[in-house]
Amino acid sequence: MSLASLSKPAKPSILVVDDNPENLSVALNFLAEKQFEMAVATDGNSALESAQLVKPQLILLDVMLPDISGFELCKQLKTDPVLSETPIIFMTALDEPQYKVQGFKAGGVDYVTKPLERLELLARVDNHLRIRQQTTTLKTANRNLQQANKTLQLRNRTVTENNRKLQQLVHIDGLTQVGNRRCFDERLNQEWLRLRRERMPLSLILFDIDYFKAYNDRYGHPAGDTCLAQIAQAVKLLLKRPGDLLTRYGGEEFAIILPNVDAAGAIYVADRIQTEIARLEIHHESSSVSNYVTVSQGISTCMPLNNMPPAQILKSADQALYLAKQQGRNQAIHRSQANPETYSASPSSVKADQSEGLG
Ligand SMILES: [Mg+2]
Repeated sequence: MSLASLSKPAKPSILVVDDNPENLSVALNFLAEKQFEMAVATDGNSALESAQLVKPQLILLDVMLPDISGFELCKQLKTDPVLSETPIIFMTALDEPQYKVQGFKAGGVDYVTKPLERLELLARVDNHLRIRQQTTTLKTANRNLQQANKTLQLRNRTVTENNRKLQQLVHIDGLTQVGNRRCFDERLNQEWLRLRRERMPLSLILFDIDYFKAYNDRYGHPAGDTCLAQIAQAVKLLLKRPGDLLTRYGGEEFAIILPNVDAAGAIYVADRIQTEIARLEIHHESSSVSNYVTVSQGISTCMPLNNMPPAQILKSADQALYLAKQQGRNQAIHRSQANPETYSASPSSVKADQSEGLG
């Protein structure tokens, strides 16, 4: 195929159906000046075959055919998916409105009355070919648009998913797979504001691994990393409520935010942590308090108040942790803002701080 023939626009093809040779010849003569591709049929059956073969852009259809009525043939053509959009113009001598209506009901787009009138026939044919062309263009554009929309939706979903992963990366500590310091800061602020509004307590536990530097010196940093990850995962499993959050605060230090948890609840959690880490039996021969890895914990509970910054509870828990270290490690100490001496220590490990309360 030459380049010239490729670029040449295809001529519209028209199927003319009429059983009367004279009528047929008149129609073909009129249409000849427009240089359409012409196909001809003289009965219903051959018209159907020809339509399916040629797939014309337009059909001129006689109403009175020897084997089937034009209306019936029109209905059949409309059921063919390939031909259902092809405009069908009836040619009829039946001039009464009821026949015209019947033609439209059968799926015809227009009609011309016999004897055919040249200018009218060409105008109607031109008109419906143009409408058909516009409809096709519009449908193609619509299909492309839908496809583009689908692609866009897919891309949006990918972006959202990537954002979610990124958000997770930003908030997760790579080594221990628990929340990181940024995650802690954000959540502490959120919970502080929420609990202040709701007038509910907030507890915070800070804990770190006893003699962790010595552990690293003895067993090496890779072993130290494994130890951190193991402890983080074990403690994470202890936290059952969705609101509780374990984060790696830095180095070998972890922080747990316990919203809506009072002192007794926080002490209970700390006690379970102490027990769980003992149960892990991670050897630590350089520890002065045990043959296994242990932790010291500082717990603080408070009712967030308007004039109090969230840093307050952090400071308080930090002081408690400092005391736990000072008093021999491998223990948890609780400080309460309301009354530092009220809470009884858990017999196994948690002690109430006897020094002054939050200053
Ligand atoms: Mg006829």
